[in-house]
Amino acid sequence: MKHAIHIVLLILTIFILSGCSQKPYQSTEQIMGTIVSQSIYGRDAQAAGIEASGKIRELESVLSFHLKTGDIAKLNSNAGIEDVPVRKETLFLLEKSLHYSEITGGSFNILVGPLVKRWNVTAADADVPSPAEIRKLLPLIHYKDLIVNETKGTARLLKKGQMADLGGIAKGYASDEVLAIYRKHGIQKAIIDIGGNIGLLGSSPEGKPWRVGVQSPGKERGEYAAILSLTDCSLSTSGAYERFFKKNGKIYHHIIDPATGYPADSGLLSASIIAPMSVDSDALSKIFVMGADRGIALIKNIPDTGAVLITRDKRIIVTENLKSRFELTDKEFRVEFR
Ligand code: FAD
Ligand code: MG
Repeated sequence: MKHAIHIVLLILTIFILSGCSQKPYQSTEQIMGTIVSQSIYGRDAQAAGIEASGKIRELESVLSFHLKTGDIAKLNSNAGIEDVPVRKETLFLLEKSLHYSEITGGSFNILVGPLVKRWNVTAADADVPSPAEIRKLLPLIHYKDLIVNETKGTARLLKKGQMADLGGIAKGYASDEVLAIYRKHGIQKAIIDIGGNIGLLGSSPEGKPWRVGVQSPGKERGEYAAILSLTDCSLSTSGAYERFFKKNGKIYHHIIDPATGYPADSGLLSASIIAPMSVDSDALSKIFVMGADRGIALIKNIPDTGAVLITRDKRIIVTENLKSRFELTDKEFRVEFR
């Protein structure tokens, strides 16, 4: 367990920088296999924080790919067998996931589960699968084999062995649900961070934008490549330096390229997406798999959405719409606005 906590601490990629005068209600806990941090300002902050925590735990029990019970567990264990009735929010997330699987040309892939399970990069005995193993799993990850029937409230996987994995989208959804709980409690200023999926409510207590640091990949936690000044939006990061194992000097990380079955090797070290809702920024951070050119082209076509991509060759590629909110802090990088 100590080992697990150590790993999740390492995956926190973004830290909120604020010099707040008011004291917020703060909590840090482990849920969904990651660290969840809340900072909430306002009279009802504690009640809001406790309710939010309960909601994330409830979502974990329904949506986890790692548990034996819940909607996703039922869906996966009935793969190739039958339709499974699921909750409305599971249907919503599966539909969203199919949408992102479609618009990313399968780079975000909701059925990547069998590969994620085989790679299991955070296991103490993680190893590199043989090419034959990968070849055997690839036919199981066609996302069109997930059939969602909204009218009947059911979902189904067509082939035995297929697995939906919401690991790349459900933390974002949870972060949106948490902000809705804060609002219900009359909260106007708060930050929720679920393993790097950050939801920002309002602005900082000084009435200025929240200043959010983007981790410099491979550097000490808290060393930032850049700082973004943001209000009322969400920011999600996918990075190659978060969860990985090393074998013969090579890094094998947790973001799988569904086209190859291997960890994505697109020239990016991290992809941070800013969007109104975290369910969207989380899913879209998987443009990490597509690489800078295709990734930026996609993001520029989505309203109110921006990207900060850090490349292996020391560039930070930032969409034009973030220009006024972006500040470079690690001079090792060259900035390109596109
Ligand atoms: P992101 O880059 O946002 O997403 C990467 C994750 O998405 C991968 O870990 C994989 O699950 C999936 N993925 C990989 N490639 C792709 C792709 N091409 N397309 C779409 N998705 C992809 N972890 C544990 O170790 N133990 C747990 O008990 C546990 N429970 C969880 C319960 C829930 C409900 C969720 C949502 C996640 C859980 N996790 C658990 C996983 C963990 O929280 C995160 O998924 C993991 O930390 C990576 O998330 P990220 O946002 O850092 O990475
Ligand atoms: Mg994420």
